[in-house]
Amino acid sequence: MNTTDEPLAPGLYLVATPIGNLEDITLRALRVLRSADRIACEDTRQTRKLLDRYQITTPTISSHEHNEAKRSRQLVEELKNGARIAVVSDAGTPGISDPGMVLAAAAIANGIPVYPVPGASAVLSALVASGLNTEQFSFVGFLPPKAGARRTALEELAAGLSRPPTLVLYEATHRIVETLTDIEAVWGPACRVVLARELTKLHEEFLRGTVREVRDQLAARESIRGEIVLLIDAHPLSAGSARGATLLERLAELEKAEGIAEKDALKRIARERGVSKSELWRELQRERARSK
Ligand code: SAM
Repeated sequence: MNTTDEPLAPGLYLVATPIGNLEDITLRALRVLRSADRIACEDTRQTRKLLDRYQITTPTISSHEHNEAKRSRQLVEELKNGARIAVVSDAGTPGISDPGMVLAAAAIANGIPVYPVPGASAVLSALVASGLNTEQFSFVGFLPPKAGARRTALEELAAGLSRPPTLVLYEATHRIVETLTDIEAVWGPACRVVLARELTKLHEEFLRGTVREVRDQLAARESIRGEIVLLIDAHPLSAGSARGATLLERLAELEKAEGIAEKDALKRIARERGVSKSELWRELQRERARSK
């Protein structure tokens, strides 16, 4: 690792940049960006704004999700020849739901030193200010955008928990209300969540409450803008509880123990879970397909 008065050592530098407030950049990050031979950027125009603000003139090159594999081969060749390359994403820490991982892995595979230059990341900023458990947390990134796959992902997360961690996920504003509805269906309406919006920016906002309260509050807004981190005070679902049992288990319970026909049992479970019958029907198909 370099100290401030030494020239930058050859290698790959993963440099965190601000997630909103341009002051959130470290002295070391600025020095690395200034001294590197090149900066590999997710979007060179976006990074140019930051570089201009700090009068940094280092040449940039694009490295985004569509060209990262090809670009990695080229940059690894330069690194093998002793180059100092900085990697940045549009915002936050490269490699966290952003390009960076492929290049880091390629550099490591070629014996090239990889240096983290830590700084802003939405996941940690939201977590530490959430008031939820910070001792055990799990970063989920983005859930699948399609409704069925998203619900399945949440159910699998719930089923896989053995202790109560905080789940941290990134979500787009246009899907946030649907995602909160899915969280309520999986963990119940009393599940506590924290929504962190526009972190470090002018309109920074935290909504804390039950999943139903937060969803209703957002649904009542004319529009939901900005960037969002959602945190769930998740708990393992107790086996056999109406909420915790899989749909197939609950269905079998109602059919066998209480002698209720499938159609009526599904109506009842839909009511219990606060979801529509058609939604429950789709979920049943997915569970049946998974259990084959
Ligand atoms: N690499 C970034 C990091 O370290 O946080 C994350 C990049 S990911 C493509 C972008 C997502 O991060 C957004 O959709 C949002 O979920 C979250 N995010 C980024 N900046 C944010 C901010 N200022 N406030 C809230 N969420 C933010």
